[in-house]
Amino acid sequence: RFAELHLDHVRRAFGDTVALDGMDLTIKGGEFVALLGPSGCGKSTALNCLAGLLPLTGGRITLDGRRIDDLPPEKRGFGMVFQNYALFPHMSVRRNIAFGLSMRKTPKAELNSRVDEAVRLVQLEEHQHKFPAQLSGGQQQRVAIARAIVLEPPLVLMDEPLSNLDAALRLEMRTEIRRLHQSLGLTTVYVTHDQEEALALADRLVVLRLGEVQQVGSPEEVYAHP
Ligand code: ADP
Ligand code: ADP
Repeated sequence: RFAELHLDHVRRAFGDTVALDGMDLTIKGGEFVALLGPSGCGKSTALNCLAGLLPLTGGRITLDGRRIDDLPPEKRGFGMVFQNYALFPHMSVRRNIAFGLSMRKTPKAELNSRVDEAVRLVQLEEHQHKFPAQLSGGQQQRVAIARAIVLEPPLVLMDEPLSNLDAALRLEMRTEIRRLHQSLGLTTVYVTHDQEEALALADRLVVLRLGEVQQVGSPEEVYAHP
């Protein structure tokens, strides 16, 4: 686990549109940070810059003092969970979860025991041999989460992971995500436009507005001075 991830004046423009305008932020290992703000404020851009899916047009990102913004996504090794799950439809739940480990040529016995553990953590034991189309939305999101955490990533990035679920499942999965974060000692960056979700989940809220950090603080601090 790292001590500090630092965004130092991170800038990303798309032509004339400045999506991130000098974003400064420090994330400590073990924290649950929510990036919050209205549509278009730069949340997804910030997450994609962290993941390595979008190059910066200015500034830098460092992990314990080492620059990572020039590394491709696979060298950063962060886990990613998207709104649309992005599962492989032709692979069973187990195979979806095992995919990253098999790409890394993890030995068979270790692969199987780590997949067992991930399946258990997200409570999909009974569904592990099914295909994604046979699962509910909430179960598919559990597969996406298991696929990310099975790799034991230093940082888990989640982009509106619950927005396709109905209200009851959203509450259930919210509890689930918080539980996994705690019990595995993960570091999580979670993008949402839902203030209530951010308040419930995060140790620290980062409110973005027009590509800049408008406010940072604990849920209590941000809630007291919205
Ligand atoms: P959010 O996730 O908070 O809704 P985004 O990071 O998606 O915000 O977008 C921030 C700004 O950057 C918006 O003005 C958006 O239109 C623009 N933007 C994002 N991605 C692209 C892109 N690929 N091409 C052009 N403009 C983009
Ligand atoms: P079945 O439903 O027929 O049991 P599964 O797709 O669920 O088949 O998985 C069979 C076994 O292969 C599981 O034990 C799983 O851990 C392992 N496995 C899954 N994907 C891979 C892979 N890409 N490489 C190696 N072994 C894998």
